[in-house]
Amino acid sequence: MATMITEECINCGACEPECPNEAISEGEDIFIIDPDRCTECVGHFDTEQCAAVCPVNCCVTDPNNEEAEAPLLARAKVVHPLKIFPADYPSRFRQ
Ligand code: SF4
Repeated sequence: MATMITEECINCGACEPECPNEAISEGEDIFIIDPDRCTECVGHFDTEQCAAVCPVNCCVTDPNNEEAEAPLLARAKVVHPLKIFPADYPSRFRQ
């Protein structure tokens, strides 16, 4: 995971239904992202969908957990084993 939700989260829930990987859930205090499911939206969108809808900009790249495109796509394939990803799959690394 390289996307995280910071303490500025206001628990609005806008992000949860936007995630293509069902990586977001309501935590004890704020919404949280499952690092085993987040792909930074690689394979599905060219921008992180949670960050795009967050009204307080609290979905951010985790500076302590940067990941390259290849492992993120590999994770997308694990999360969606039946999905065929085209060669020109969407990715924030390809903008
Ligand atoms: Fe889900 Fe994309 Fe946000 Fe990761 S960056 S939690 S895959 S919406």
